[in-house]
Amino acid sequence: MAEGGHYDIVVLGGGSGGYACALRAAQFGKRVALIEKDKVGGTCLHRGCIPTKALLHAAEVADAAKESSKFGVKTTFEGIDAPAVLSYQQSVVDRLWKGLQSTLAGRKIDVIYGDGALASPTSVKVGDAVYTGDHVVLATGSVPKSLPGLEIDGERVITSDEGLRLDRVPASAIILGGGVIGVEFASVWNSFGSDVTIVEMLPQLLPLEDENSAKQLQRAFRRRKIGTELGVAFESVTKTETGVSVKLAGGKTLEAEVLLVAVGRGPVSSGLGYEENGVAMTRGYVDVDGLCRTSVPTISAVGDLIATPQLAHVGFAEGILVAERLGGLDVRPIDYDGVPKITYSEPEVASVGITTKQAGERGVKVKEVNYPLGGNGRSVILQTQGSAKVIAEENPDGTAGRVLGIHLVGSRVGELIAEGQLIYNWDAEPEDVAALIHPHPTQSEIMGEAHLALAGKPLHFHA
Ligand SMILES: Cc1cc2nc3c(=O)[nH]c(=O)nc-3n(C[C@H](O)[C@H](O)[C@H](O)COP(=O)(O)OP(=O)(O)OC[C@H]3O[C@@H](n4cnc5c(N)ncnc54)[C@H](O)[C@@H]3O)c2cc1C
Repeated sequence: MAEGGHYDIVVLGGGSGGYACALRAAQFGKRVALIEKDKVGGTCLHRGCIPTKALLHAAEVADAAKESSKFGVKTTFEGIDAPAVLSYQQSVVDRLWKGLQSTLAGRKIDVIYGDGALASPTSVKVGDAVYTGDHVVLATGSVPKSLPGLEIDGERVITSDEGLRLDRVPASAIILGGGVIGVEFASVWNSFGSDVTIVEMLPQLLPLEDENSAKQLQRAFRRRKIGTELGVAFESVTKTETGVSVKLAGGKTLEAEVLLVAVGRGPVSSGLGYEENGVAMTRGYVDVDGLCRTSVPTISAVGDLIATPQLAHVGFAEGILVAERLGGLDVRPIDYDGVPKITYSEPEVASVGITTKQAGERGVKVKEVNYPLGGNGRSVILQTQGSAKVIAEENPDGTAGRVLGIHLVGSRVGELIAEGQLIYNWDAEPEDVAALIHPHPTQSEIMGEAHLALAGKPLHFHA
């Protein structure tokens, strides 16, 4: 292990944002130190994106087994072997983790394991060792938040960290928070056989998504018998002999084996020397400009530590942006509206661009189309329901102009949003997309069909 030293760039935190920055910086010939107190890959690889998606895949297999008779296939569903699911999940994580470690080694990045803190505007201390850099990149990420008075005990009152490692399927669960993490856990546990209720203070599930997507998800969850308590505040939790009893505003009480607290994640920034070295912060998030520069010229910050969307691919993009800026490239600020978002529940919810409500708030006149999956052959084969909603700016002549938002709901639609982000980020108009041929029968045809309809030439669309 390196014992201190000088580098071109010192990165504090080896999650998505930090390691992406290190990898890209190395391509410019920079000497990089990446300081990580736990495991490279961070939340996404070890406690977030990858382990949740492995669980969701196991859930999909369980659903397929349970529902196979719909397709004329005889199976018997015997239940979930939770330890075996965990070992499948771990095998996926381990394989990717090994790959990441060898990629970092291949780019000659010095990975230093230890708890780091900013010691000056150009150095990070790990124990007694000091790593100086021409530039320091802060990428210490985030951890689960709770509510005042709501204590996480790790057994009955848990966060996603413990939820991902449960070696049993809870008979019942209350999920506090109907955001992405809460919705994904609800989907998994319901497929595994739990009795699940989501409690969300705002009036819709996935509050950041278009209202139409949230309504369709809610309808699908109702069909799956996932309970929802929307527009209701949590008041208190008490532990019972068998689990928890949760009191909601208005007096309603819910009982379950576990309470999963999924009320958001907060930045890891206290006690790390940031403020002491002049790094300006707001509510714990490091303040940055559009190019991830902090108030200290030699320090940048990326990922969940800054107040941008808490997504791994946002962390990657910010890490790359900083590396390219330090590498002398002419970089542009990220258009955060153009970042694709996916909730990998059953059904999936995916989007890019703005919602109808945001268009209204920004005073933009729009034309919209909402193409139902019921008209798409592949979706009917999969027996999934949902829609593709496309929002375009309305031209002065009343035709549809630039596409501003794409919102999808349905099984497997997450993969389609990659096309959606090209459409949005390349400023495409419905006419441009209508001219492209989508393979039949695929779910991707819903993208083609929705844009054909917006361009005034619908094919299989009746509305
Ligand atoms: C359950 C769950 C599911 C998710 N699913 C998705 C998904 O499907 N898609 C998606 O895009 N995003 C998802 N996310 C979000 C995604 O994981 C985060 O946005 C991403 O990990 C942020 O990357 P980061 O590098 O900013 O921070 P982190 O990944 O949190 O990495 C920060 C790293 O810094 C290290 N560190 C902290 N303090 C110190 C210190 N003092 N010294 C040394 N090292 C330190 C930590 O150990 C950690 O490894 C999910 C998150 C959760 C919790």
